[in-house]
Formats: sequence, structure tokens, C-alpha cells
Amino acid sequence: MYDTLNFDVPLVKVEENIYSLELFHGPTLAFKDVGGRFMARLLSYFIRKEGQKDVNVLVATSGDTGSAVANGFLGVEGIHVYVLYPKGKVSEIQEKQFTTLGQNITALEVDGTFDDCQALVKSAFMDKELNDHLLLTSANSINVARFLPQAFYYFYAYAQLKKMGQADNKKVVVCVPSGNFGNITAGLFGKQMGLPVSRFIAANNKNDIFYQYLQTGKYNPRPSVATIANAMDVGDPSNFARVLDLYQESHEAICRDISGTTYTDEQIRETVKTTYLQTGYLLDPHGACGFRALKEGLKEGEVGVFLETAHPAKFLETVEDIIADKVTIPAKLQEFMKGEKQSLPLSKEFADFKAYLLKL
Ligand SMILES: *Cc1c(COP(=O)(O)O)cnc(C)c1O
Repeated sequence: MYDTLNFDVPLVKVEENIYSLELFHGPTLAFKDVGGRFMARLLSYFIRKEGQKDVNVLVATSGDTGSAVANGFLGVEGIHVYVLYPKGKVSEIQEKQFTTLGQNITALEVDGTFDDCQALVKSAFMDKELNDHLLLTSANSINVARFLPQAFYYFYAYAQLKKMGQADNKKVVVCVPSGNFGNITAGLFGKQMGLPVSRFIAANNKNDIFYQYLQTGKYNPRPSVATIANAMDVGDPSNFARVLDLYQESHEAICRDISGTTYTDEQIRETVKTTYLQTGYLLDPHGACGFRALKEGLKEGEVGVFLETAHPAKFLETVEDIIADKVTIPAKLQEFMKGEKQSLPLSKEFADFKAYLLKL
């Protein structure tokens, strides 16, 4: 537990009534370090205790999960991690973070989208022959050990807000830049546990399946499109089923607690730029969706917290291009950039993935 949250999660004021919960101070500079590390430690504890045969962790990534999980498991005996990522759809630094590690980490570069990667992983778990042959487990947010510990920092954010005297006579709104909806689901669980958040906003990029669901009551998954907030490029969010379940499938009840927004790349760029110029605060493309949603959606008597889910330097070229200025790269990231990329190409056909796994 101490090892999971051995980095700070500060709440930083960006402007009047809008606060950034900086979740990027972990080893891979993304919020997924929290869940990734917790899960890695939990699993290695049980493997040691029960002396099981080797465990194979399959993880699909839209950019940040792969590195958080891989770094959490790096060098852990008895565990091998396979990171499936969409070729050409993650930033260079993100890619470096899981393709340069070696040891017990293998990167599989899939000729397809994140949804294809996620489908491959899900099919593997359903395949009897594979499961007879190998011990498989998931490290995506479909695994509760990854998303439950994320509920912690919602409480921590509230505590910090309270300490600043900002939560006393204002309603607290939390905005979550969302892709696979694991993060916001953890927050919704927090609310059920008693966290006094009055409502949530799910900020989407152009992959706005959830936003459309809120408007129409219909869930229509569709292939994801690439955006500059790539970790949110999900066309069929895994945790939507959990949100539905949490609210007994009631569209009305969901709309009472959660509203949504959707932004184009152009709007994201504009938000990063204006915020930087006006406040000096540098948002990453994901956090920018969160900030903008609060800026547009906060009502009288409300105070807003958005989750700043990754460090802007993880999207170096995009962000430097937007602000026409240099971004300081944290030392932790510079280390990753030195490594040599190693990955195995894979098609999006399950048969190929299965054949690969069977040969292990
Ligand atoms: C994964 C990720 C998201 C989306 O989180 P979900 O839990 O998948 O909704 C948002 N921003 C960043 C930077 C991420 O890495």
C-alpha cells in the first residue's frame, strides 16, 4: 500500500474555483501508476504466497496503461507482461515507456486501434484452449484491482479542497477526462461510499460514445478515431457496463449524477494554449478536456476539480507545437527516452495472437 501511493497527488489552483488534481507525479507520469502499482503488488504477493506457476498479464493500452502496468511489474519473478498497443497511435515517449524495458515485459505492436487490442485481450480470456495452456490475467481497468485503488485519490482531493476552505459552502463537482471509463467509475464508487461530490462530468474527445449515450439514452459503440488526447481514444468503453450496473441501468439516474462534454482536437489545442497564456498553467491534452468542461459547466455555488491525468511532457511534440514554447521534461521521462525500442509486430486477427501465445 505504501508502495502504491509513494508519490504526491497535489491539488493545484488553476483559476478561481477550478483546481487540478495532479495525478502525474508517479514513476510513469500518468494516473494509471496508482492502479498499476497496486495491482502489480497485490498479484506478486499472492504469487509468492501460493507459489503458482507463471502468470501472464495481458494488457491493452491506448498509451499510458502499458507503461504503468509494465513498470509496476518490471523484474517481478513469476510474472510476464504482454503489452498490446496500436501501431502509430501512441506518442513517442509513451511508446518508449513500455518498449524499452526488456526483462519480463514484451511489447506487441498491433496493426489496428486500441479497441482491436482490447478485443484481442478479451478474446484470449474467453478462449478455453489458451486458458488450459496458460495462466492469464488482465491488467486493464476491467480488473477491479486496478480501478478500485483509484477511488482513494478522490477522497484525497476532497480532503485537500476542504483544507483550503473551498468545500465548506460550495458544491463539489469532479470532472474526469474519460476513455475506458475506469477512472470515473472509481470516483462513482467513491460517491457511493459517501464522498460528498455533488456531480461528475465525463469529458470526452471526439470519441464521444458516452456523451451521445447521455443525450440519447442509446449506447452505440463505434470504431475509435485518433485524437491528440490519445489515451481517451476508446470506441467501446469497458467500464460502461459498470456505470450502467451502478445505476441499475437507469439512464435518468445516470444523467442525475453525470453530465458529459465532447471536444475536437481544435478545441483541445485552443484550451491548452489560452490556459497557458492566461494562467501560466500547462495542461496536457487530456486534462485540457477536463478543465474546459468545468470552465463551461460550473454553476453558481460550485467548485470544480478536474483530474490532470498525465504530465504534458508525455505529449511533447503536440504540446510544444500548441504553445510554441519548450516544455521541461522531467528527469524520470528523460531516462525512458534513452532506451532502444523493442517490439513484436502483430496483426489484429485473434488467430495470430492465439498462435503466438500457444508457442510461449
Ligand atoms: C487512461 C487515460 C485516460 C482515460 O482514463 P479511463 O479510465 O480509461 O477513462 C485519460 N487520460 C490519460 C492521460 C490516460 O492515460
